[in-house]
Amino acid sequence: MPAERLMYQSRREQASEALRARGIAALLLSPSSDLAYLAGYRIFASERLTCLVVSSAGDATLVVPELESPRAEVAAPDLAQRTWGETEDPYALVASLVTAKGDVAVADQMWSLFVLRLQSALRGRGFQLASVVTRGLRMCKDAYEREALRAVSAAADRAFPRLLEREFAGRTERQIGAELAALLRDEGHDEVTFTIVGSGPNGASPHHETGDRRIERGDTVVLDFGGTREWYCSDITRTVHVGANVDDEVRRVHDIVRRSQEAGYAAARTGATAASVDAASRRVIDDAGYGERFIHRTGHGIGLDGHEHPYLVRGNEERLEPGMTFSIEPGIYIPGRFGVRIEDIAILGDDGRAEPLNRADHALAIVR
Ligand code: ZN
Ligand code: ZN
Ligand code: ZN
Repeated sequence: MPAERLMYQSRREQASEALRARGIAALLLSPSSDLAYLAGYRIFASERLTCLVVSSAGDATLVVPELESPRAEVAAPDLAQRTWGETEDPYALVASLVTAKGDVAVADQMWSLFVLRLQSALRGRGFQLASVVTRGLRMCKDAYEREALRAVSAAADRAFPRLLEREFAGRTERQIGAELAALLRDEGHDEVTFTIVGSGPNGASPHHETGDRRIERGDTVVLDFGGTREWYCSDITRTVHVGANVDDEVRRVHDIVRRSQEAGYAAARTGATAASVDAASRRVIDDAGYGERFIHRTGHGIGLDGHEHPYLVRGNEERLEPGMTFSIEPGIYIPGRFGVRIEDIAILGDDGRAEPLNRADHALAIVR
């Protein structure tokens, strides 16, 4: 069997072991990153049920609509398949594969359309979220995943300086966003997931929808962008300024956010809690008097999903371990005026320290 298929097989064995440890009968995974992680099979979600059933006994069966069976065969030739035709009941089929006693754990992103029907087909069983089992497996990246995340982050890094050569003043956010997307593809992304271009007052909305606002000289512009390369996600934010005439407060705020991010890096060590990294970044911004304007958590895990465990947020006492990859992305948002955010993906190395996967310059870049 090719090495990649062995990797999926060993992940499924670990999942079965985790099911046994928790007394859960089976994992039921509709199309999601969990399914991709355990089977190497990716399919768009649709009204026809696709479901990987991983049992506590160690069996794995992919329930697939008949018409997608050839595709599944190519992607996951080692997996046992059960197909269902257009007029058959896939829920009864899934239920027949759950034989051990106990709850079932369903994909966190499973549609209600499937959950409600599976609840009827598996009456009497408790339902849990698959992440109770999969988060522990997915949070610490193995060598293969670390390499994939390194490559996609480097691709995002290469796109950024190329964008800085472009003219910003007089062009719309949408135009800059489109150019950024093209650069990300050119530098090796398979898909571009998002390009946030928050110019001037729009920068104060952290998840601003890139639109038709025309960028002007004197604007501060938040650029937050990412996509995937071989299924692994990138996510980076830099803040730039249009023209060399930078307002004092913009400079000050940018400097505070930089120091906040550095404090986050310093705090992110093996054994530290996720909450303590958030606290370290937040303290710098609080002390500078902008605490009220840092309106989101400090970071999120990243891998096959753009946002996944661990979340660097107040209250998360989870301890960081080698192989965890997460963003450190403090920001300050001044309504009606501007925003500043700096984001890198970091990996916790085997030496216990956080290493940035993004190397693009953090300084406030001046663009035309
Ligand atoms: Zn975000
Ligand atoms: Zn981002
Ligand atoms: Zn992010």
